[in-house]
Amino acid sequence: MPAESDLRCRFAPSPTGYLHVGSAQSALFNWLFARRTGAQFLLRVEDTDTERNRPELTDNILDMLRWLSLDWDGDVVHQSDRGSLYTAAVDALVARAHTYYCDCTGEQVQARNKAAGGKPGYDGHCRDRGLGPGPGRAVRFRTPDDGSTAFDDLIREHVAVENANIEDFVIVRSSGAPLFLLANVVDDASMGITHVIRGEDHLNNTPKYLLLWEALGYGPVPVFAHLPLLVNEQRKKLSKRRDDVSVADYKDRGFLPEAMRNYLALLGWGPPDGIEVRPIEQIVDLFRLEDVNPSPAFFDVKKLTHINGEYIRALAADDFVARASEFVADADERAALAALAPLIQERAKTLTEVPAYVDWVHGPVDDARAWDKAMKSALAAAALDGAYEAFDVTTWTADDLHAAFIDLADRLEAPPRKIDGPLRVAVTGRTVGPPLFDVLVHLGRDETMARLRTAREQLSP
Ligand code: GLU
Ligand code: ZN
Repeated sequence: MPAESDLRCRFAPSPTGYLHVGSAQSALFNWLFARRTGAQFLLRVEDTDTERNRPELTDNILDMLRWLSLDWDGDVVHQSDRGSLYTAAVDALVARAHTYYCDCTGEQVQARNKAAGGKPGYDGHCRDRGLGPGPGRAVRFRTPDDGSTAFDDLIREHVAVENANIEDFVIVRSSGAPLFLLANVVDDASMGITHVIRGEDHLNNTPKYLLLWEALGYGPVPVFAHLPLLVNEQRKKLSKRRDDVSVADYKDRGFLPEAMRNYLALLGWGPPDGIEVRPIEQIVDLFRLEDVNPSPAFFDVKKLTHINGEYIRALAADDFVARASEFVADADERAALAALAPLIQERAKTLTEVPAYVDWVHGPVDDARAWDKAMKSALAAAALDGAYEAFDVTTWTADDLHAAFIDLADRLEAPPRKIDGPLRVAVTGRTVGPPLFDVLVHLGRDETMARLRTAREQLSP
C-alpha cells in the first residue's frame, strides 16, 4: 500500500435504517479502492432530510459496515451538522445568478407537462418571473441552454448529456432544506474527495453534479466510477419487497461476514486468475476499478451460500464453535457442537443450519415426515432390534459402533444405508445430521439404548 496519498473516496449512505446489499457493494468497492491505492476512505451520512436525521436510521448501517470490517478513516461526517456550508454555497450561487425562485407545486408542473404533450421534468416556468425569496418558494438551479456536460467514468468510459435535456433542478426546498444534489457536491468539494465511487442509480445525477461543481468554481472535478446495478434471478433490479436486500438479514441467516464481503467483491468484478474465493488481502491487491464490468450483476444467493459453506469449512474448529454458538439454544447443544464441530462444518452451509445438527441432544426431534420416511421400510423393526444387540460393544467408540453396524447390515443382508435411516431417526428424529456413530458416542451408551428401545416400542407397541 502506498504510504502517502492525496486520494480520497467516500461512502455516503442515506439513513434508511438498514444497509442494502447494493450500498454494501458501494462501501466495499470504495474500501477496496482505498486500501489498494492508499486513499482515505471517508464516511458521510447524507441526512439533509430532517425527517431522516435520526440516529436509529444510521446505527444499523454503521453496525453492518463494522460487521463486514469495512473500517473508515476519521470520524463519521453528518450532513445535518453542516447546514451553514450549504447555505453559503446557495448564497454564492444566488449571487452569481445561477438560480431563481420557483413557487410551482408538483401538481402544477405535472398539469402543464400533460397539456404540452407529456415531457417530464420541470418546464422552466419561473425562469424569468423574477420571483424573490419567500414562503413556499424553492430555489432552482438554472442549467445552461446549450452545449453538453460530459465526463469520463472509470467503468463506463465517456458519458455525455445535452444540457438542454437537464431540467432546472431544485437545490433548496421551499422548506429551506438543502437538497441531496447540492449537499453532495458541497461536501465532496469540502472533504477533498478525488474519487466518487457509487451506484449506477446516481449516473443521472452526475451531469447535475458537474454543473453545480463548475458554477461553484470548485476547480478540478473528481473521477467518477458508477458501479453496476444489482439484479435478481429475473434480471430485475433488487427490490425490498421481492428480495432479501438487507445485509443484516444475511447476518441473521447465518452468513459469515468474510464470505459476504468476498461475495460482494465478485459483483461486477473478478480477479484476473479466476480464483474467486480468497483472502481479502489478495482481493485488495488485485482490485482495479477499471476492471469493473458496467453490466448489471446478478445477486446470486445460491452462489453466496456456496461460498459461505467454503468459508465455514475453512474456519478453525474453535472459531466455528464460537460463531455458531450464537445460533444454538443452550449449553447442551453447545456441548454437542463443540464435540462434533468438524463434522458439522463439513455439512452446514450457513450458521442457521447448525441447530438442526445438534438439537437432538434433548431427545429425538419430533418430525412425523422423517419418521414415516425411515420407518415405512420393512427393515426398520429388524434394524432396531438388531442394533439393540449389536451395539452391545466393549468400547463405546465410533470405530467399534461402525464395525458393529456393518456386521448388523451383513446379518440382515441389507445395504448399510438402508439401516442407517431407521437408526438415525430412532435416535435423533432426523434423516440427516452428523455421522451416526459420532452422534451415538456423544449421546453415550445408556441414552442411545433408551432411545432405540423407545423407538422400537413406538414402531409396534
Ligand atoms: N446518499 C446517496 C445514496 O445513498 C449516495 C450518494 C453518493 O454516493 O454520491 O444513494
Ligand atoms: Zn416554478
